Amino acid sequence: MKFGPQCKICRREGKKLFLKGDRCNAAKCPLLKRKYPPGMHGPKGYGRLSEYGVQLRAKQCLKRSYNILEQQIKNYFKKAKRLKGDTGVNFMKLIELRLDSVIYLAGFVNSRKNARQTVSHGNIFVNNKAVDIPSYQVKVGDIITPRPKKEITDKVKEQLTSRKDQGLKSWFNVDAKNLQITILKEPEPEDLPKEFDIKLIIEFYNR
Ligand code: SF4
Repeated sequence: MKFGPQCKICRREGKKLFLKGDRCNAAKCPLLKRKYPPGMHGPKGYGRLSEYGVQLRAKQCLKRSYNILEQQIKNYFKKAKRLKGDTGVNFMKLIELRLDSVIYLAGFVNSRKNARQTVSHGNIFVNNKAVDIPSYQVKVGDIITPRPKKEITDKVKEQLTSRKDQGLKSWFNVDAKNLQITILKEPEPEDLPKEFDIKLIIEFYNR
């Protein structure tokens, strides 16, 4: 497997960010063999980071994994601070409730990059209307479906069949037969992804 720019991002962050869809689960994922940053100087490891460096890396991991622009993340942080409750939980909920994130989690597509493209191309409907904004915030009761066009529905069907953990999130339901996602409730803290250190990310933006 060629490393490519996406694999370099994982190596820079020192963890699997699953940027290449199904290929990331293969034994050939370069991060399994080369757990050191990319560059011409070989395996020198990741070195010691300052407190700021650790917070920055945590933030970069999230940003690169979700493929979100810096300004958008800052906006989520500002909004999370204004909402009642824990800022970190609010922040992560806002990100998880993005339309592109939901279709990825539900297994309609095999990577976040594909999720963004699929939404941007107008191939996802929310409550029977095309929504082409990847950052669109889904709401409880929303019904999400692929555009009813054979080539689109066939792709979604194929993805849902190959995905093993489909429908495992408790805050939405995936009806694989009817190719339909229903948002049942907002994610609880325990539903939020564990691979990101939200505390460090919030510390970074609170600086
Ligand atoms: Fe490349 Fe995917 Fe492995 Fe990251 S997780 S290094 S994108 S194959």
